[in-house]
Amino acid sequence: MSRLARSRTAAAGIALVLTAAISSAVSAATAALPALPQPDDRYKADVLLILGHPDDDTEATPYLAKAAFDEHRRIAVVYGTRGNSGDNHLGMEQAKALGDIREIEGRQALASLGISNVWFLHNPDTPGQDVLHSLEAWGHGAALENIVRIVRLTRPEVILTMLPAYVSGENHGDHQAAAVLAVEAFDQAANPLSFPEQVNAPRKRDSINNYGEGLKLWQPKKLYFMDGGYHDFKGRGPTYSATEISPSKGVAYGQFRKQAWDFYATQYSLPEEWVQKLAVWPTQFIFGKSLVPSDAAAGVFAGIEPGSTVIYSKPTGYVPDAGNRPPLELGGPWAFYRRFWQAHDLQQLASILPPEGSVGVGDPLWVPLLINNDANTSKQFTLRAGLPQGWTQQEAQELTVTVAAHDSYPVQLNLEAPKGPSGGWQTLKWTLESKGSPSADVQLRMYLDERSILPQ
Ligand SMILES: [Zn+2]
Repeated sequence: MSRLARSRTAAAGIALVLTAAISSAVSAATAALPALPQPDDRYKADVLLILGHPDDDTEATPYLAKAAFDEHRRIAVVYGTRGNSGDNHLGMEQAKALGDIREIEGRQALASLGISNVWFLHNPDTPGQDVLHSLEAWGHGAALENIVRIVRLTRPEVILTMLPAYVSGENHGDHQAAAVLAVEAFDQAANPLSFPEQVNAPRKRDSINNYGEGLKLWQPKKLYFMDGGYHDFKGRGPTYSATEISPSKGVAYGQFRKQAWDFYATQYSLPEEWVQKLAVWPTQFIFGKSLVPSDAAAGVFAGIEPGSTVIYSKPTGYVPDAGNRPPLELGGPWAFYRRFWQAHDLQQLASILPPEGSVGVGDPLWVPLLINNDANTSKQFTLRAGLPQGWTQQEAQELTVTVAAHDSYPVQLNLEAPKGPSGGWQTLKWTLESKGSPSADVQLRMYLDERSILPQ
């Protein structure tokens, strides 16, 4: 057979096979597509906690014990970090080795409440009080992507997180970062344009070399914050008693917090009086928002009908404030939160507390101010400090600056707190003057702590 004849014979054979294949495909006029699996129910959560570090969960333990043991809620937890920058009260292990220990401590503490769906996101534990510093260290975009993924995987009815605000107390930047990401994830997990690759259907789910994460959009219904225990936020959200007795376990819910603390052995060696306090300290939540009818102080699940869904709730979003900015405002995290609360419909947090913080006696204090000029021409401003006795400011008490039209000038002030006496609040004040404009001022109240606290 010539080479041409051979190739003609081969071509005819291929044509026959193709015809057979096509006719068999055509012969089945209709075919049912296979049913698709539903989202993996083993990971469905009623409540998702979004926290900064292992041990942050203990703020909510009395509530978690009630929810887990007596309301049979499914609870999942995601930690932004593995707590690798803490101090170790038990052994020599530090840094990554400490992170390895803290992760197990967290898993064991939660397992004591029957909670096993627990994720650690491996962001660096960033000691400080500035949320923007933690978000910078974590990589805000990647961290948000990871949290949105967990929300879509766990499909929680309720998200519990820390307080997205700069307040006196522990005020850890990582707690605030977890809270900021939780709020952003609450508002984005049902939006198909947020991390679309996560909700892309996999091309061939039962094969390798696949892509498309195959998650579903999800809109959580309620959002609550945890207070950190430094302020009395009673009435701003539901309170859960630690002395109430669990019907199924026969002990007070606060006992489970003591038990959880036993697992966090590297964190603190708590004096007995503190252990007693922890056992009776209630869980106080602060209402964030609800997409179902619910009073702020009503129970965490009030208004949530079993099996109901909310498609998507669009937050107000950023509204440019140029032209309406205060001439003088606290900058840095304070200026961020002012816009954040507005954009995410959490305006009630703007009035929850006056601007405040804590500082150890004799410790440095950084205060960022913003001088905003919304006029059409450049302006000269004079900024004067009004500090209580004992406070010093490295920069001159009176500063002058020219700010271009429609621009802002970030003033970085470096203060030192008085050497004592500790305790009580002191109000720091700065006043801004400019020719032809009324003067403006900002106030910042600081609690003078007897011990050094987190750096800013
Ligand atoms: Zn923490």
